[in-house]
Amino acid sequence: MTLVMKFGGTSVGDPAAMRQVASLVERALPQAPLVVLSAMSGATNALFDAARAAEGGDAKESTRIQKVLVEKHHLCARELFDGEMPDKLAHGLRDLFDELKVLLRGVALLHELTPRTMDAVASLGERLSTTLFRAFLAKRGVDAEWVDAREVLRTDKRFGSARPRYDAIRALCADKLAAKLRPGRAVVTQGYIGSSDEGFTTTLGRGGSDFSAALLGAALGADEVQIWTDVEGILTSDPRIVPDARPIPAVGFAEAAELAAFGAKVLHPATIQPAVEAKVPVTVRSTHKPEGAFTAITNDVAHERPVTALARRGPITVMTVTTERMFGQAGFLGRLFEVYGRHGVSVDLVATAEVSVSLTVEPEAPLAELCAEIEKFARVEIARDRAIVAVIGSRFRDTPGIAKRIFSALEGVNVEMISMGANEINLSMVVRYSDSEATLRALHKGFFDEANA
Ligand code: ADP
Ligand code: ASP
Ligand code: MG
Repeated sequence: MTLVMKFGGTSVGDPAAMRQVASLVERALPQAPLVVLSAMSGATNALFDAARAAEGGDAKESTRIQKVLVEKHHLCARELFDGEMPDKLAHGLRDLFDELKVLLRGVALLHELTPRTMDAVASLGERLSTTLFRAFLAKRGVDAEWVDAREVLRTDKRFGSARPRYDAIRALCADKLAAKLRPGRAVVTQGYIGSSDEGFTTTLGRGGSDFSAALLGAALGADEVQIWTDVEGILTSDPRIVPDARPIPAVGFAEAAELAAFGAKVLHPATIQPAVEAKVPVTVRSTHKPEGAFTAITNDVAHERPVTALARRGPITVMTVTTERMFGQAGFLGRLFEVYGRHGVSVDLVATAEVSVSLTVEPEAPLAELCAEIEKFARVEIARDRAIVAVIGSRFRDTPGIAKRIFSALEGVNVEMISMGANEINLSMVVRYSDSEATLRALHKGFFDEANA
């Protein structure tokens, strides 16, 4: 029996938030909690900035950012420990900051920042927050143990977005973690980070702590994975864009996966898969309002509404490939996608027309290389600064007239591309990035305003 509790950056972003997290963990002690923490909010960004400054030869800026980070953690520690930081904690933090300093000095000397080094640097955020938090739990009299996630979360060597090695994780969790978990004790570990077979530090990609929680929860056969964050669960849309967004009590696994893939930052896109496979329920809850609304992500959800949620992802780039000659001929799409595959570029949306096909890619895609190859057999047009707006709902299939409702909500918006997901639970469209927030609000009004519901 265990409960995985993952707390995001804002939940451990300052002393007040950490106190709140500590009391939530204390309440869960009978359930043998495994506490998976993110870095303090802003820390991972600061680590990236410091590393890039060092790479660019700006040692002064890199040092300045390091100082800000040190101060942020010390300030938090001083407040949590009433000015009397225990020696063990002071040493622990100092060792981690020394490690950071050495790493960044190496980067500055070499003017080189490899993905492997970046992961080593980025790992410090979670290692710092968990060191601080474990000490704080201990100060409150909690039996709290710190576990280095790199001992259990085995990954491949795709630094920056490493993929988990499921069997190894399961074996390592059984071997090194399971016996530590017991009612009355909190085990504290890091999200986001792991290690390769050789022991190199890796990361699961930005926002990866959710993924860590799901992986560990699945490997341990946890009773539940709780994702604690700064909103009351998954909302009908991003509340920063749509202020009227409201909590959704239950979301299907497939819907949650689509939402995350289409930009709802509330969950890391890969989170769902290990949890589904291990049949571990996932809930998304608010650290600040623990008794408030929350979302349960489960297998069978009976929604009343045709649309469950809306998401926006962008900016993205649309490539339109046209050829009067080849299109429609056997093998054309195969040849086209082979180019993307070879360059490791993933394509999100595809829409085909008589003589052309439009595809969306991330803005960082190597456009020049892709075009050079595709232009051997077709013309390519590129439209940048676009966004995907996705309408997600598992009841699309049995709701007639859904497209009509979508388009009447969108009167006046120039929709450039539309694609119905093959699983029939998402309808995505491409609009100008600058129109995307208004588009989201218009759709939200159309589907979630009481008058329209
Ligand atoms: P954490 O640091 O806890 O991982 P994140 O910032 O990664 O938190 O994710 C939570 C944020 O996701 C929310 O503050 C909200 O702004 C954003 N968000 C985007 N779409 C949604 C949505 N559909 N429901 C809830 N939050 C969303
Ligand atoms: N700290 C990491 C990030 O900021 C991972 C996470 O918060 O999930 O991306
Ligand atoms: Mg997150």
